[in-house]
Amino acid sequence: MKNIYVESSDHKCTDCGRGIDIAAMRIAQRAEFKRHGLCPECIAKVKEQKKQHAAERKAAAEAARAEAAERRAQNPSAANRIRALIEQATFNDEQLNKIMDFELTKSKTKISYPILKEIKDGDDWEVETYFSGALRYQKRPLNINGHELYMTNSMYTRNIPLVKKFLVEIGSLNDDTAEA
Ligand SMILES: [Zn+2]
Repeated sequence: MKNIYVESSDHKCTDCGRGIDIAAMRIAQRAEFKRHGLCPECIAKVKEQKKQHAAERKAAAEAARAEAAERRAQNPSAANRIRALIEQATFNDEQLNKIMDFELTKSKTKISYPILKEIKDGDDWEVETYFSGALRYQKRPLNINGHELYMTNSMYTRNIPLVKKFLVEIGSLNDDTAEA
């Protein structure tokens, strides 16, 4: 590689201040010098710093995600606590019809959307789960008696005892063992 650094030159790197022999530079180096005023070594330094910063940002984002996941695990959302109740419950066809009867669940549990929703092949999941300006269902379906059912995420702590009571009433849940 040609030495591009010379003592006397009108072209100087704005960072390290060394004189540059423009004619000895490769085309790409010359283009970068014109754009940034930096010699190839200083360009390399900046790129390395950028790479490090990107890696640091990525690591910070990953740490934040892990922390959020741990918080969720320690303090599950109302929806996930209700999901746990439904996963502990058993349903025959009649009981399944009851929990899928929106008028009934709304009056018993005060949950504003159908608790469980079956989305048929060919239906658009986002269209089927979009209500009042938001996607209102969890992405991970529950499998109940061979049906793939999606559960609403629009639930609050106040709904938990109501859902539990409802599941006990319809005989799907044993009061003694249920834990939300
Ligand atoms: Zn330089």
